[in-house]
Amino acid sequence: MRKAAAPQWELLEHAVPRDLFRAEVEAWARRIGVRPREVRIRALKRKWASCSSRGCLTFDEALLRQPAAFRREVIVHELLHLKVPNHGRLFKVLLKAYLQMQ
Ligand SMILES: [Zn+2]
Repeated sequence: MRKAAAPQWELLEHAVPRDLFRAEVEAWARRIGVRPREVRIRALKRKWASCSSRGCLTFDEALLRQPAAFRREVIVHELLHLKVPNHGRLFKVLLKAYLQMQ
């Protein structure tokens, strides 16, 4: 997911530990029914996250300082690519449906 859609602000009080972020990714992976081969958290320049063809997800560590709703959007977006490798109609419908779940 490219950084163009990023909020311009970062609030430190939203910072979460890596373990919590990983738990969020795992919880959403179970909901969506996918199993990432590997989940990495490291500094990315142009993207919030990426998905390799091998099924390895990489998330930008700056996400740890983003609000929960935005983290969820990036996590669901990237996990969904393990099911739908493009941004077509199906992807958009599923993304919207998952983001409406609580
Ligand atoms: Zn994408």
